Amino acid sequence: MMIEAQMFNKAQMPQSCQTDVSGSTVSLDETQTAIMQGKICPYCKGKTEYVDSAVIYGKSYGMIYLCKPCDAYCGVHKGTDNALGRLANKELRHWKKEAHKYFDVIWKEGHEKRGEVYKHLANHLKLPIEYCHIGMFSVETCKKVVDWSKMILNDLRRLDMDLGVDVKRPHYERP
Ligand SMILES: [Zn+2]
Repeated sequence: MMIEAQMFNKAQMPQSCQTDVSGSTVSLDETQTAIMQGKICPYCKGKTEYVDSAVIYGKSYGMIYLCKPCDAYCGVHKGTDNALGRLANKELRHWKKEAHKYFDVIWKEGHEKRGEVYKHLANHLKLPIEYCHIGMFSVETCKKVVDWSKMILNDLRRLDMDLGVDVKRPHYERP
């Protein structure tokens, strides 16, 4: 279903979005880098396998990095062997999906470009933008993404209602 894109108007972005991106720094050590590249399993720290996704899905959706004992895996960027992020087990796969479910609505509704929304998120999470990808996040951070996205979506909903726009989205309850 396509949502009609609205012209983005900075003044329309909720207050919660309008903070500066701080220049925090994070550096990863060798193991952390290998984890983010899908080469090492973040759960058992073992070496991963690079296999066709058919071993998981019964049908090929491209290659994956896999740790069989941990039931953890991660896809790659199309046409490359670059992992989309760290390997994810069942719980993390669930929370990554939840994070995308709410976060993606913000840019898909056309309030702001995807990259800009990631900048706001990076600022909220106090992460450098290059490490601000849902594929890199832990369960705990994915939960933060869900909550932040709900807050933004609720704010946008209120603004739209004030402007007399018919909003199809519900108000989201937050913890
Ligand atoms: Zn493992």
